Amino acid sequence: MNPPITYSLDADGIAWVVLDDPTSKANVFKREFLACFKEVLQSLGKESTLKAVIILSAKETIFIAGADIRWMYDIDSKQAAYDFAREGQSTLDSLTRLNVPVIVAIHGACAGGGYELALACDFRIASDSPKTQIGLPEISLGLIPGWGGCVRLPRLVGTKGALDHILKAQLIPSAEALKAGLVDELVAPNLLKETARAAALRLMGQSDKRPAPTVCEVGNLFADTRKQVLKRTRGHQPAPLKALDIVEQGFLKSTAESLEIEARAFSEVLPTPECKNLMHVFFLRDANKKAGVDAWFPSVAASSQKPPAIKRVGVIGAGVMGSGIAQWCSLRGHEVCLRDVKPEFVDGGMKKIDALFQEGVKRGKLSSEQAIQGVARIKATTGWDGFDACDLVIEAVVEDINIKRPVFEHLSKIMRPDAILATNTSAIPIDEIASCATNPERVLGIHFFNPVSRMPMVEILLGPRTGRPAAETSTAFVKAIGKPLVVCKDSPGFLVNRILLPYMNDACRLVMDGVSVQAIDDTLLEFGMPMGPLRLSDEVGVDVCHHIMRVLAHYFGDRMKVSEALTRMNDAVLKGRKSGKGFYCYEGSKETLNPDLASVIQSNPPRPMPPDEIRARLMGVMIDEANMCLKEGVVRTPDEVDFAMIMGTGFPTFRGGLMRYARSIGK
Ligand code: NAD
Repeated sequence: MNPPITYSLDADGIAWVVLDDPTSKANVFKREFLACFKEVLQSLGKESTLKAVIILSAKETIFIAGADIRWMYDIDSKQAAYDFAREGQSTLDSLTRLNVPVIVAIHGACAGGGYELALACDFRIASDSPKTQIGLPEISLGLIPGWGGCVRLPRLVGTKGALDHILKAQLIPSAEALKAGLVDELVAPNLLKETARAAALRLMGQSDKRPAPTVCEVGNLFADTRKQVLKRTRGHQPAPLKALDIVEQGFLKSTAESLEIEARAFSEVLPTPECKNLMHVFFLRDANKKAGVDAWFPSVAASSQKPPAIKRVGVIGAGVMGSGIAQWCSLRGHEVCLRDVKPEFVDGGMKKIDALFQEGVKRGKLSSEQAIQGVARIKATTGWDGFDACDLVIEAVVEDINIKRPVFEHLSKIMRPDAILATNTSAIPIDEIASCATNPERVLGIHFFNPVSRMPMVEILLGPRTGRPAAETSTAFVKAIGKPLVVCKDSPGFLVNRILLPYMNDACRLVMDGVSVQAIDDTLLEFGMPMGPLRLSDEVGVDVCHHIMRVLAHYFGDRMKVSEALTRMNDAVLKGRKSGKGFYCYEGSKETLNPDLASVIQSNPPRPMPPDEIRARLMGVMIDEANMCLKEGVVRTPDEVDFAMIMGTGFPTFRGGLMRYARSIGK
């Protein structure tokens, strides 16, 4: 087998170093890859006719995707982390000691260690292909760039530009990278080699091949940025602060001194639980891309053919969810038939859809033309025309089996017998819905979250009679429309709502007991949730929470009793944001505590409760429910719970997910 990195020397003395790991579709800095790079650089150092080096990748979509995250995940001592950083730094640093110009020709993803390699070169050329995405995403893994990124980027683009980029932790398209100074030249992919060669020949003739470091005025840059980071992370994440420290301490020191500072900082972040948790989330996301239904159908062999692609989608109900689902499917290129019962409901749905497309245009995600085409792909009707040609129908009518039943009965008559009939129900058992259709094996739940355009996750709900073909095709469809998914067994509340609602319900109970709304919400916000449970009830709608809790109480009995506070709020039409008042009042841009709350809930005398106690109690409710879901087989693994809670509720990634957090506190 060929080594992952090879080189050949041409007649002009240019060494062409080609990155092409034969064991993988990607080039990644694994142990062997790094060792091979080191050997290649040593050999180049001995080439007497060497005049320049050009580094490029032979992969179609990847230059170097970064360092091996598994390798880093397994490092758990400070010393080993320091050695890891030092080894990478010294390997890349030897590029700077070759005493000939080194040019990097980037095509495909150039991330983390891959871009740190580019930073150690003299000249960076990138292809203008959309596949070429460049940057230092380490902070998103709880890490810092530790192979020279925090040292060399400020010297290339200035401290402010470097901090902006390192702290955002995103890969950016090559045109943006050029604008920001991360690369020096942009060319079409087919011109990459000849442009690199021209640069090599040009730089060969120059005595001082390295540009002078960029000096910039810092002013209050570090103090201001530190404040912003602390506000954003509430101090929960060590990595961004460490990156700031390195840039601040290192930018006026020599490169060698700065690299030492960087390696020490790296050794302090890699072993932290926050870093390991964020890496765990990376693995969860990666595993989710391969999520399938095999485990759910152990005795049914997988089809040897790919599931048929869904082309035309029908959506029934143009309300909150139906319009959101129709818009999302059309955005992803599907032809959509959308039905509601009255012209004014159809018009209302189409208005919402139009507004979503316009928002996409405003945010620069879509062109006006794409928005027009997106709206045109949706055929809205009060009839049933077009539904007979749909491959999949998603029902999103009101949450009432008496309204859903005739819909499924009618769909059974007009649709192909193999077309998939999905429901977006929040809580009605899938099998009850399947009973209303012919061929119940093609019925399942595809449960989107509200708002569809912003909530990434979808639950695929398998009833006892759902067949493997419908499950496979639906899973492939959800992936194709770009939504991560969790496959769940049909069970009241499914997974996310079943865990989340009891937590919100218990928070209401605490309010009834006299604990202040602010104390509860602040505690959970401080924990890292995107908002406290009471603010969340207002956002979801107190009436919606009340309804789902009643369903859960119906199925689970006293364990899920609806809190008195929720019932009284619902009776008093304090629905939350949509009615202007809930636990908070929503007038103007900022919400304030609702002063009428005490009279509605008639709460007991104020009862101070320490944040630790609030957190333990409310997290305890979620953890207990999640354990029950696992025991009942609603999902199969704790990792699935973690993924679903992160994607479906914004559970803090730096805690690694609910079950990982539970383990960390010994539950
Ligand atoms: P909604 O009240 O906003 O919309 C329902 C729409 O269905 C209405 O426009 C109504 O006119 C229409 N409708 C009723 N009967 C119909 C029929 N026979 N044919 C066509 N249209 C018909 O409700 P929603 O919030 O969009 O909820 C829809 C479904 O999605 C429910 O099952 C709900 O439980 C579920 N859901 C809601 C949310 C949420 O947060 N709103 C989240 C997830 C799932």
